[in-house]
Amino acid sequence: MEPIMCPFCGGTNLFQEDDYSLELDNEFWTIHHWECMDCAQSFDKIEVLPASNAFEEINESTIH
Ligand SMILES: [Zn+2]
Repeated sequence: MEPIMCPFCGGTNLFQEDDYSLELDNEFWTIHHWECMDCAQSFDKIEVLPASNAFEEINESTIH
């Protein structure tokens, strides 16, 4: 999962830090974190999946 560009400056020189995951009651969150090498801003994207499906369907293209 890659961002298209930095949301702050539009740059594409991005450094991706390690993902981390949280499992809540019935959801499985994966947090992706990037830092922009051009403007030094950092930003996140969060994927939320139902916990029961997280491991089976994480690569499916149709996530509801
Ligand atoms: Zn930037």
